[in-house]
Amino acid sequence: MNIHEYQAKELLKSFGVPVPPGIAVRSPDEARDAAKSLGGDLFVVKAQIHAGGRGAGHYVGDPACSGVRLVKTAAEARAAAFEMLDRTLVTRQTGSQGRVVRRLYVEAGCAIDRELYLSLLIDRTERCITVVASEAGGMSIEDVAAKTPEKIMKIRISPSLGLADHQSRELATRLGLHGPLIGQFATIVHAAWEAFTTLDASLIEMNPLVVTKDNTLLALDAKMGFDDNGLFRHRAIQELRDPNEEDPREQEAARFGLSYVSLDGTIGCMVNGAGLAMATMDIIHQEGESPANFLDVGGGSSREKVGAAFRVLLSAPGLEGVLVNIFGGIMRCDIIADAVISACRETGLNVPLVIRLAGTNVEEGMAMIRSCGLDLIIATDLGDAARKIVTAVRTRRAA
Ligand code: GDP
Ligand code: MN
Repeated sequence: MNIHEYQAKELLKSFGVPVPPGIAVRSPDEARDAAKSLGGDLFVVKAQIHAGGRGAGHYVGDPACSGVRLVKTAAEARAAAFEMLDRTLVTRQTGSQGRVVRRLYVEAGCAIDRELYLSLLIDRTERCITVVASEAGGMSIEDVAAKTPEKIMKIRISPSLGLADHQSRELATRLGLHGPLIGQFATIVHAAWEAFTTLDASLIEMNPLVVTKDNTLLALDAKMGFDDNGLFRHRAIQELRDPNEEDPREQEAARFGLSYVSLDGTIGCMVNGAGLAMATMDIIHQEGESPANFLDVGGGSSREKVGAAFRVLLSAPGLEGVLVNIFGGIMRCDIIADAVISACRETGLNVPLVIRLAGTNVEEGMAMIRSCGLDLIIATDLGDAARKIVTAVRTRRAA
């Protein structure tokens, strides 16, 4: 689960990370009042969406307006908010459809000397929390990694020993920090690590972490993500969830207790079990297409549950074909066949569908598929299924 910048900053602040004073608002008048109460002569008005690249992004129909605006007075903050609220912001992370901005964060501005990058994340290969830092802050870290990988530094935190002070001090020195900034940097890394482990985070990113003109460190942007499997331990974090920012299809499937993951390819996949999901996606890739999503119907789901979930799968944008790949154990093939047939009838399926069933009640299931009168393509094994769906999708695309 991800949260908004203003929420991440409040959490990080409570652990000791220095952030600028700011106020979250939902109307232009509130933005003006926020600037007044912050005081000073520079304010930053920032769109709150779960996507980065806001500074370089632009509003639909207003290319001059980005998602991060620097203004000098409370009246200008109000005017900026008027242009930014309840409109759609497109950034390189939102996709072309963009996101509607429902909330803004008004912050006291600061004069920047240097922009750094700092993040903590779980490195699955190294099996530990890793600190990533770079002198090239303020830009997308993926770009830095692609163009100037030598500017990315990493330190691994030992799960048994924890973060050692010398590790973050060394990192500070390698970032070119001097004097009191070294100690400040070490304090920030330590605070972030405390926040990360205490709250079961999966990511904490400060981009940029800036050195201000008066020589202090300040997190100007903050992003936090949490491990969904740890959320039950953190009631307060659960309450930060913003349903507007979550995939409506994933939410709908979750209502039925099924896991559904939206992806950006063309082929919808209905499978049972995570291993089969991965194998199915791999083999689709191998055949040269990519999955639009996958839906794991698990074991022992009812016909109603499978049907509801399948309708969610069919509603995915960009869907050009469907691959149903079920290995029936506890999940029975006839239930899958029944659910697929009725959902296809109801929705008037208009993309090719390949179905491969194996296991419990496969004969009953296949008999239902053959006699249903719908134009469903039957496959005998996984390789056959992937080839058939890719061929069908490409034939339809060419036509
Ligand atoms: P993002 O584009 O979504 O990552 O949003 P950020 O919060 O990182 O803001 C984008 C950029 O705006 C930063 O990299 C800064 O260069 C600039 N910015 C943000 N806050 C301030 C500020 O207080 N003063 C100045 N001068 N620039 C700022
Ligand atoms: Mn940023």
